[in-house]
Parts: sequence; structure tokens; C-alpha cells
Amino acid sequence: MPDDFPLLADVAIDVPGRDAYTYRIPEEMAGRLSAGDCVGVPFRSRTLRGFVLSIGANAPPPGVRLRDIGEHRPMVRVPPHLLRLIQWGAHYYRCSIGEFLAGAVPAPVREGMQPERTVYVAKRPACAATLTLRQAGVLAGLPDGPMMLAEACRLTGSTRSMFDRLAELQAVAIQDHQEIQELRLEARDECHALTDEQQAAVEAISASGASGGHKPFLLYGITGSGKTLVYLELAERTIAAGRQVLLLLPEIALTPQLAARVRRRFARVAVWHSGFTDGERAEQWRRIHAGGVDLVLGTRSALFAPLPAPGLIIVDEEHESSYKQESVPRYHARDLAVVYAGQLGVPVVLGSATPSLESIHNARIGRYHVLQLRKRPLGGRLPTPMLVDMREESRAQRRSATLCRELVERLRLVRAAGEQAIVLLNRRGWSPVVTCQECGHTLMCKNCDISLTFHRGPGKVRCHYCAAEENMPRRCPACGVGELSTFGLGTEQLAAQLSAEVADLRVLRIDADTVKRRQGHATLFDAFARGAADCLVGTQMVAKGLDFPQVTLVGIVCADRGLSVPDFRAAERTYQLIAQVAGRAGRGEKPGTVVVQAFDTEALALRCAIDHRPKTFFDAEMEQRRAYRYPPFAGLVRIVWSGESLANVQLVALEHGTRIQAVAQACEVLGPNPAGLAFLKGMHRWHAMIKAPSRGAAQAFLDRLATAGGIEGEKGVRVAIDVDPYATS
Ligand code: ADP
Ligand code: ZN
Repeated sequence: MPDDFPLLADVAIDVPGRDAYTYRIPEEMAGRLSAGDCVGVPFRSRTLRGFVLSIGANAPPPGVRLRDIGEHRPMVRVPPHLLRLIQWGAHYYRCSIGEFLAGAVPAPVREGMQPERTVYVAKRPACAATLTLRQAGVLAGLPDGPMMLAEACRLTGSTRSMFDRLAELQAVAIQDHQEIQELRLEARDECHALTDEQQAAVEAISASGASGGHKPFLLYGITGSGKTLVYLELAERTIAAGRQVLLLLPEIALTPQLAARVRRRFARVAVWHSGFTDGERAEQWRRIHAGGVDLVLGTRSALFAPLPAPGLIIVDEEHESSYKQESVPRYHARDLAVVYAGQLGVPVVLGSATPSLESIHNARIGRYHVLQLRKRPLGGRLPTPMLVDMREESRAQRRSATLCRELVERLRLVRAAGEQAIVLLNRRGWSPVVTCQECGHTLMCKNCDISLTFHRGPGKVRCHYCAAEENMPRRCPACGVGELSTFGLGTEQLAAQLSAEVADLRVLRIDADTVKRRQGHATLFDAFARGAADCLVGTQMVAKGLDFPQVTLVGIVCADRGLSVPDFRAAERTYQLIAQVAGRAGRGEKPGTVVVQAFDTEALALRCAIDHRPKTFFDAEMEQRRAYRYPPFAGLVRIVWSGESLANVQLVALEHGTRIQAVAQACEVLGPNPAGLAFLKGMHRWHAMIKAPSRGAAQAFLDRLATAGGIEGEKGVRVAIDVDPYATS
């Protein structure tokens, strides 16, 4: 090849804006470089990491002096099918391919971190030694099957030396291979025959897999209907056919039971979450990439695990909003999973007891294939919850009541009978508001437009947005004289009230505060499962992964609180939360009771969740969405401008607003105006919502905006484009 036609590569770099930059391939790399490879390239005055998108012998644009690729990392090659998904995602969610890759390939992998020799731990089947209470607790919290030692430490809230000690006592085995085969316990709870409904679902999905082209499946099964067994059965068939499985969950730490079931059934499992060291993360990526893993279980970013030949994608609890990433790349893992499966020609299963309105809509218009599980294999009826009007309750109790008599009375009965209860309140801390009795001043965060929450245990007030904290002042900092009072209820205070109202009730609190401070989730949940407490109090954390047969009572405090949030999904979220929690009581032999406390007892979301009337709720909510043009009857794009100078934020937002209007066509533009959270983490915020007639129309709008020059940050103002947004304030 003559010198004037050098071999060139298009490289995606982690900077906003352009998708690719062209570089020359130095001679020594020629023939070894391929699309998906990680390289180091000179960019402005720095060297940045990037990924090769394509290689060609194109002539450089005239007058452009091309630079050479500086370094090649042969260890890291993004598989072609994954690269194609990421390219699609970058276009749809409007970031550069390089930015998306940076979000999809873990930093230690991109940075060429050497894979660490990873140590695994597994429980031994029988342990003869006498253990201390603490040792026994850790052992009980350790799920069956081998797992990375670091992960075991995190799950049980203990240390490496604790496990070394347990190993000396022959209670666990520690090895540097995952295949501690002989220690894999029997797949004991999964030897059931499938029910007819389960069998039908498995057959329908496998048949589609064999034939290639297919629609996504919505596995709509009531809580306890055995969706997991369907997943495991499908996974087994996929693995037997030599392909790999992706099983996505909303929150890994809260589903130790599912992880344990998966580990018991399959040997080569990778659990993908954020709790790894860099070296372990690099090792995990390498192992998955090399085909050493059959099943990846993880949260949203596990979608980008570099599996060589994915054959099945499962998205459990598909309605959960944690599938949406709130920073660049702002993708939705469920939606992207559907796209990925389509590109791969493999089945995708979206499972839920309370599907999202979007998925219900897709099912109704025939875009998804619905498979229903209506029965519980273990029998057991759904409990009938009772709704308590807290306004009436306050009148009857002649005080502003936080707990109704029904709940307190039933807790006493639970205590007396030696059963267990769970009480849910979706707010941490003691009180969300602290106000001066003299001047009425409310303690606010310095960085955010948010009131500070009082945490009594540590004696602090904290911002739940930016995590700023200070000591609780003795006097009002504004007037200097007034005493401070607290308003509103959080889990910390609720736990104290329950202990005070119900004699001898042993209360265990699980929320982000107790989990961080004390132990891992698994240990706390396990302590409860072993009967160390009568009543579990917590935020929505307790709503997930609840499968305690001894629980006969569930209370939901301030059940309608979420309805007042200015968000078009408020009713949907409230419905889902209550239906999920209600469906989880009474899983064992004894029937369950659910007591729901609310102020607005007429709210349809509450009523339908309580009476098990999903169709009524979906129909009514669909009508609302249609009337007000919200998804699934619209495609939304939200734009947020943020910066330290309010004047500049406003200036840029209004100027961009004019450009947005100019290309809006059939789209409705709300704003730009100050965001609901107008000041956050030291940044002033403005936003605009663009409502397009469909998702396709929203993409067309964004294309027009880009063609017209786009909107980019300037004057110290950042611009965030959020396609299919979940956050609205
Ligand atoms: P879901 O995920 O739909 O809420 P699970 O998969 O957790 O439900 O199943 C609920 C319970 O029913 C579990 O204890 C599970 O072991 C049991 N189960 C599921 N399928 C069967 C079956 N075919 N036969 C017997 N028990 C089953
Ligand atoms: Zn703050």
C-alpha cells in the first residue's frame, strides 16, 4: 500500500459529541486490530481510551493530518453483537458511542487492569464444629453454592479473616476456582414438576427460540406463581444448547433468595454487581468473555456482559424503574434488552406480577406475546387487605395518629402467636422536616432545594439528595432562639413507635441507613428469617425479595404518600408497590393479612391494588395517559439545563427553547421553566419536556434538532437529554 493510502480506523472516544474519530493504524498493529478492540489514542493534548468501530482503507479527508493509534489492548475486545447494541443505544439515547461504551465496559477493564486471581468461598454441607453466635450468623447468611469471597463478605457484612476462621473450622471451603463442584448442594427445591401453566409458558418460549423470529414475551404471573421456575427451566435448555443466559434483576442485593436458587442449579454463574474490586471486575469480564460463564445474573448493566453467544434474555420485575439509568448513558435496560434480543434473534422474557403500563399496552396491541400464570403452585390464596382511613383514625384516637388500632392490635396477636410481621414505610430517618417553633424556619440543605431529614440515632440532619449532613442544631440557626420541632414520620421513628406501642415486640429495621451501618442485607434478612425479630420495619427494600413463610401480617404506612408526587407514573408506582407487597403476605400455610393505612382511601390505585382488580386499574390509567398524552401514548424527551449561575442557566435554557420550538412540529413543548427540584447539589436547574406523538416521532424530533445544530452546553451550563425519562422533576 502506498503511503498516501494508510490503513485507518474509526475510534469511539468517551467524549460527548461525535461518534467516531479517524486514526492511522501503525504498521506494527496492522492485521491485528479489529472492531471492538480497546485502544489508546492521542486526543487534543491527552491520551484517551477508545474502541475501534471499524477499519478501512479510506483516504483521509483532504487537509486533515491524522494521528496514529498509540496503544492496543488485545485483552479487551467487545463482541460484535454487543458493539452493535451499543451503537443502537447511543443513537437512541443521544450520547456518543464512546460515552455509551464507557458506561457499558467497566472502567478496570478499559484501563487494562490485570485480572485478579479471585478467591471463592462455599459452605460445606455439614459442619461439626461449635461456632460462636457471630460465626453461625455469618454462615447462615451465606447463600449455598460458590461465590466470590469479596461478595460473600459484602453480603454477610463480615471480613476475610472471619471466613479464614470459618475455613479452619471446616465450615466453609476457600479456593481460587469457582468450580468447587463437590460442594454444590443438591438442587433440592427445584425438583418440582412444572405446573401446566408453567409448562405451557416454557414450551411457547422454547418453540419461538428454535424458530428464530419471535415477539418478546410478557410473563404475567401473580406473586408466588412460580415465574422463577420458568426462568430456570428455560435457562437450562438454553445452556444445554450451548448458549448463554442473561437474567436481569432490579436490585441484586435484595434478591439473595433468587441468586441462591440460580447458584444451586447452575455451576458456571456470574453475579454482576457493583461490589467488586477492580481486579475482580476485570477477572469476571475476562471469564465471561472467554465463555467460562453460562448464566449472568445482574442488575441493568449486566446487559452489557460480554457473553460470546447469548441465547436468552430474561428481565425479572420488568416494571421496576431502577432499570432506567439516570446518568449518561441514560438507557432503559428492559427496553434495550428487547432491542438486543431482536438483533440476536433470541427470545426475551419480561416477567412481572404488576407489569408496566408500557408492557401492558404492547401486549394489548399485539407487539408482545402474553403468557399468564394465574395459579400458585403451592396453593395459598392472595390475602385480602384492609384499607384504613387515617383521618377517621385520628378523629377516633383524638390525636394525629400514625398507627391505626387495627395494625397495633394485630401486631399484638402476631407477637402472642409467635408469628412475624412486616411494616413498610417508604421514608428513611426519624422525620423529614425540622422547623423552628418561634420563627417557622425549616432546616434546608445548603446545596439543594430540599428540607433536611432528622436522624435521631446519630443526632444528625441529612439531605437525602446530596448526602450532606450536619449535627442537629440545638436552637434554630435562623432566629437563634427558637426550639426545633420535627414533623412527619420516617422508618427510624416508626420502629420506635412500634416498640413503644406493642409490648415486647422485637423490631428489626432494614433501610439504607441500617444496612450501611451494620450488616449486609443478607444477614439482616436472614436474622429475621431465623426468628431474631417479630417485626421487620423498612423502606421499599423490605417489599422486594420477601419470601418469609412465617409472615402473616403486612402493614403499609402512608400508602398513598407516593400519589402526591408530581409524576405521571405516581399512580402506577403506588399500585405496583401495594399489589406487590400485598401479594407477598401469607406465603406459608397460614393465611395473611395486609393492613393499608392511607389518607386518600378513594384513590383508584389503592383500591384496585387492594381488591386485586388489575384490569380496572390498567384501563383507567391507560385512559389518563391517553387523555394527557403520556407514555405509552407518547414519546417523551426531557431536557435539563444545570449550572452554578442561575442567570446563565435561564439564558441558555430560553435560547435553546427557541431552537426546540423551531423544530417541534407536531410535538408539544412544556417549558423551558424551573425544574421541580430547582436547586440540587449546588446546581440551578431548568427543564423542558417534549411530548411527541410516539417514540418514533420523538426520535425524528431529536434528529431535526441535531440537524439544526443541536443544543450543547455553554456558559458553564450543562445540557442533559433524557429519552423516555423516568425522572420528571
Ligand atoms: P414468583 O417469582 O412468581 O413470585 P416463585 O418462583 O418464587 O414465584 O415461586 C413461589 C413458590 O412456589 C416457590 O417457593 C417455588 O419453589 C414454588 N413453586 C414454583 N413452581 C412450583 C411447582 N411447579 N411445584 C411446586 N412448587 C413450585
Ligand atoms: Zn443536598
